[in-house]
Amino acid sequence: MSKSSHTVDFKGVLRAQGLKATPARLKVLKTLFQSGKPQSIQQILESLEAKESFKVTVYRVLADLKGTGIVRQVDFQQPHAYYELADPADHHHLVCVKCNRIEDFIGCDADNMADAALKKSTGFARVTGHSFELFGLCNRCA
Ligand SMILES: [Zn+2]
Ligand SMILES: [Zn+2]
Repeated sequence: MSKSSHTVDFKGVLRAQGLKATPARLKVLKTLFQSGKPQSIQQILESLEAKESFKVTVYRVLADLKGTGIVRQVDFQQPHAYYELADPADHHHLVCVKCNRIEDFIGCDADNMADAALKKSTGFARVTGHSFELFGLCNRCA
């Protein structure tokens, strides 16, 4: 990934959200940044070459990062949750159901769908977020 050639001031990112720049938080952020793709907790542990016992810390770190919006959780309809750095551009994923290949795609029709849903709804005042991924077969698996 060409992304890894850039450096990001993750300490600044954490402090801007009122979080201390602990070594564990910095490690997890760096791993997510370098992978450039949503990662499961297991994958994060593997990239860090960390022991299984570090898992609890990674869970806690991800909860903090998610809570402040630095990281977002991606639902690939799999038993494990996936996490990636939040990105101001509205991007989603194409996921191969056979080999798990993941590709990003930018944008979706969420604003229009939210308007339409709110118009029909009697119980909701506003929409604050959305989750949307596409599943299929990649060229190699098709
Ligand atoms: Zn595939
Ligand atoms: Zn979207």
